[in-house]
Amino acid sequence: MLVLAGTTEATTLARHLDGRGVDVTSSLAGVTSAPMDRPGGVRRGGFGGVNGLVEHLSRERVDAVVDATHPFAAVMPFHAAAACDALGVPGCRLLRPPWAAVDGDRWIHVEDMDQAAAALDGIGVQRVFLAIGRQQLEPFRRCSKQTFVVRSIEPPDVTLPGMTSILDRGPFDVPGERALLECHGVDAVVAKNAGGSATEAKLVAARELGIPVVLVARPPQPAGVDVVEDVDGAVAWLSARFPDLGQLRSVS
Ligand code: NAP
Repeated sequence: MLVLAGTTEATTLARHLDGRGVDVTSSLAGVTSAPMDRPGGVRRGGFGGVNGLVEHLSRERVDAVVDATHPFAAVMPFHAAAACDALGVPGCRLLRPPWAAVDGDRWIHVEDMDQAAAALDGIGVQRVFLAIGRQQLEPFRRCSKQTFVVRSIEPPDVTLPGMTSILDRGPFDVPGERALLECHGVDAVVAKNAGGSATEAKLVAARELGIPVVLVARPPQPAGVDVVEDVDGAVAWLSARFPDLGQLRSVS
């Protein structure tokens, strides 16, 4: 049983399946130098595209794949869908629901980071909290009227105007996020619509402080793939196909 990892849900699922005696292996892209510990097997690094993944699944005789990569992983879900399809291996996408605005939210919806960077001048803001990780900072280099607070797990490679870098990993809470926004004089937040509770606090803090949030939409997902919203959904999906979960094989 292979879990394509990169999210809290992937870690929780691996822990749950291991606890039920499933021979589970988690696959990490290898972008984070100190990933969360998890039971079961762990492999790191890309497979080498769809063909590499097909070869891997077939060589390791993988019974099922749960793609629990991040909602903003734009490539891996398509590769997983194509590889599972090619081999007839059952696969599902674990994709948490996106956030939805509530009263008091001042959200500006954009399609990508280029649009997010372009939107900042339009709303006349100066000190921007980029809660988008470290890999998509490049578009903000063009911003001449703003300075930035960047939070990421690993140090960013890109330097932005007046940048303050904060190294931290969620989950985050509302008091902490409020303190961060106030302490750095932030007047706008840029975030990906990742969904889930672990990183939602920044949106609540922004709402409480009346700060606008430029919210980047998710990339497209492959069509025709079973989607579950959470770990329970993934376990139910697996149980429906493998009544005795303990018989599922791992990859190693
Ligand atoms: P991506 O664009 O979908 O994937 C790029 C390439 O990385 C894939 O083609 C694949 O290489 C490799 N890859 C991705 N996930 C992998 C996995 N779980 N195991 C093995 N190889 C994997 O993904 P990304 O946005 O670069 O994200 C990379 C990882 O970070 C993902 O696991 C994702 O869950 C996690 N992550 C991403 C974000 C985000 O905002 N994008 C946020 C938090 C965590 P090959 O083609 O060589 O197989």
